[in-house]
Amino acid sequence: MESDARLTLVIPAYMEQKTLCTNLLAILDQLTADNIDAKLIVVDDGSRDHTWQRLCEFASERSNVGGIRLSRNFGKETAIFAGISQVQTEYCLVMDSDLQHPPRYIKEFLRVADETGADIIEGVKDDRGRESLSYRLFAKGFYRLLKSASGVDLGNSSDFKLLSRKAIDALCQFREGTVFFRGLVNWSGFTTATVPFSVDARQGDSSKFSSRRLLRFAVDSMLAYTSKPVYLTFLFSVLFFIGTLILGVYTLVNYFSGHSVSGFSTLIILILLLGCLILLSLGVIGLYIARIYDEVKRRPRFLVGDTCQLTPTKFSRGGL
Ligand code: UDP
Ligand code: MG
Repeated sequence: MESDARLTLVIPAYMEQKTLCTNLLAILDQLTADNIDAKLIVVDDGSRDHTWQRLCEFASERSNVGGIRLSRNFGKETAIFAGISQVQTEYCLVMDSDLQHPPRYIKEFLRVADETGADIIEGVKDDRGRESLSYRLFAKGFYRLLKSASGVDLGNSSDFKLLSRKAIDALCQFREGTVFFRGLVNWSGFTTATVPFSVDARQGDSSKFSSRRLLRFAVDSMLAYTSKPVYLTFLFSVLFFIGTLILGVYTLVNYFSGHSVSGFSTLIILILLLGCLILLSLGVIGLYIARIYDEVKRRPRFLVGDTCQLTPTKFSRGGL
């Protein structure tokens, strides 16, 4: 893979055998039309179909396309980091392989980067495309929760991002095993500019994120990004303590003034509420302990099964 391009596109792909080549071709056509010299690094996230074979065939005919195959499905976030760690150009643009991040915006990303000198150019969805109502509600709920837990609003942000060399090098230094691309880019705090884009229809089979996967992704991202939920449980306990004090005084006053305390229902409700809160707090703490356990093992973030048309440099926190 040779060229002196200043841009590398990092494209994660999972089970995209049907449309990967046509989509990559559409991207390359757009680059030619816009007169942009760019390399492509496609990361096959351990697909179980023929995505890798298709990709290798495609890459063998083109000098500016390279591929990495992860040994199994590690998830889109990890795939993105595997790709980013191989970028050697001045800029890198992360985009989906299903053309939902339309390549016609690449020119705009570069223009904004040159104009503003920002290290991160963020694609912001001005129209979320066709998403089911349940997905929309779920996404909204997740971002609202994340915002209240960590104060960061990622509502309309996407993984469609252009990163400068400085931002790429910074991201490659991150040591944690579970990565949340959007969150970490935001955390880095580098100067950011935005490019509004409208999400196109998905080219290929349906989305790879089932509701269960989305839920897991949401919990993982939240845990990876913030430890505020633990503080929230502490806040709960303080509130409960205040409630206990008030109710305690009320009960004692009743007792000494000779009124018999009748309150079986109150008692049951209180016990249930307390039980729920204790279990909730234990659950939250448990989730973080599980994450600590995962992190202290210091396993590589991903393993590379194969590469094509690419001489890999050292993978940051991954191994061959
Ligand atoms: N993807 C991936 N690994 C996965 C799931 C998805 O690399 O485990 C890729 C997928 O091939 C696509 C991008 O991530 O290029 C976005 O996936 P998808 O379109 O299914 O998600 P959505 O657009 O619904 O967020
Ligand atoms: Mg998609």
